[in-house]
Amino acid sequence: MKFYNSLSRKEEEFVPINPLHVGMYTCGPTIYSFPTIGNWRTYTLSDLTFRTLKYFGYEVRHVMNLTDVGHLSGDNLGDSSTGEDRMAKAAEKEGVDAWSIAGKYGRDFLDSMSLLNINMPDVIAKATDHVPEQIALIESIEKKGYAYKTTDGVYFDVAKYESDGNTYGELSTLDVIKEGARVEANLEKKDPRDFALWKFFAKGQKRHNMEWESPWGMGFPGWHIECSAMSMKYLGDQFEVHLGGEDLRSTHHPNEIAQSECATGHKPFVKYWIHGAFLLVDGGRMGKSLGNAYSIHDIMNKGYDPLSLRYFYLSGHYRKQINFTWEALDSAQNGLNRLRKEVAKLGFSELDMVVGGDNEYKKSFEKALSDDLNMPEALAVLWKLLGDENVSLSDKASLVISFDQVLGLKLVQEEVSDLDESLSIDQLPSEVQQLIKDREEFRKQKNWEEADAVRNKISDFGYDIKDTSDGLIIKPLS
Ligand code: AMP
Ligand code: ZN
Repeated sequence: MKFYNSLSRKEEEFVPINPLHVGMYTCGPTIYSFPTIGNWRTYTLSDLTFRTLKYFGYEVRHVMNLTDVGHLSGDNLGDSSTGEDRMAKAAEKEGVDAWSIAGKYGRDFLDSMSLLNINMPDVIAKATDHVPEQIALIESIEKKGYAYKTTDGVYFDVAKYESDGNTYGELSTLDVIKEGARVEANLEKKDPRDFALWKFFAKGQKRHNMEWESPWGMGFPGWHIECSAMSMKYLGDQFEVHLGGEDLRSTHHPNEIAQSECATGHKPFVKYWIHGAFLLVDGGRMGKSLGNAYSIHDIMNKGYDPLSLRYFYLSGHYRKQINFTWEALDSAQNGLNRLRKEVAKLGFSELDMVVGGDNEYKKSFEKALSDDLNMPEALAVLWKLLGDENVSLSDKASLVISFDQVLGLKLVQEEVSDLDESLSIDQLPSEVQQLIKDREEFRKQKNWEEADAVRNKISDFGYDIKDTSDGLIIKPLS
């Protein structure tokens, strides 16, 4: 399978460092507010990558961080010396402390993952739970001579790193990773590109009560160091996949590389860097001040199934920006409903779960996945399969189950919930009761063709039947 690797700027065959255990790290959210549907696009991409690797048989260990300290508004602009502290700002706004903010939004993030059917990563690592690891990493960088102290923090020395023959910012799309234009330059920094490893509260800066003792004094870790410290703690000095939104490509990820490779003696940190394009809203960037930074709760309050958002994400390739509008979500919801209707016509059984059809559709689906996670194409293959009258219902059923392991649209589980509305066998005409018994017999013999033929006869009497792992669902045909 191939991924576009932001580091080499081309599609590359996926060859794991360790063929048996793939390490994957996703930069998680800063838990100071409800995640937006933009954030969720990136976490859905992370889930699709995880599911695709699993589908192709890899054992994947997925680690995600929760940023609950240290993320200043200047960080994304390439400057970590100034800017507002996001946690402190939210704490002040809500009249609580930063720990309650982290608790409230951290819980909301984890609860909401299941709404989008995102698999829980193997490790969820909070920055505040890993302060000793971050301090140890900064110490090792300092010992090698790549850190210096100013009045407001400890900084990574980019020029020194470069003068020792290292390339800084290889990943970045910015010509020069520079201090953000919107924020004031920090005159104590040796180079505008230097970034904070450890921070002290500056005079006049909003304080929060997340502070720790360190060899450099009371303070808190810089934003970038947490991801280096936690990814290496759980995945080792070198691992396969590191993922985040496209904004992280310019400064956050180059900084992670510099810190980690500096500490490990220049072992290449990550093999494949995957970056998801942004979600736009109404054709532009979304923003809290614009009132269009929608959360998953806004989507649900308007009556949409959260999985319609997942379907919407699947309809665009992850490296292309997609534009969210309510009309686009309407069509995604309609698409998902139609898909469920089609799938509901199939028969499911325990056996279908293990048979796993092997045909041209499976090949096309896998080709789409292998082609840098081409989900729109994968979805198109599913639609084509459902419309193909030459494929037996049981083959369709098993393929749908297997495709949905990656797509994660709960195509199968949703229809199982129809069980309650099922007619019971004794409510049916005697001819239909007999046909159901005949079909059972054929299924026991694994004679799927005859079983399907009987099913069609049952349809002629005006009944639709579906096998689920919970039993048979019988409904009048609509
Ligand atoms: P943050 O909470 O700002 O650290 O962002 C968490 C993740 O969401 C990062 O991987 C960001 O790159 C990503 N992200 C932020 N905004 C968007 C957006 N509009 N579309 C897609 N991903 C986004
Ligand atoms: Zn990160």
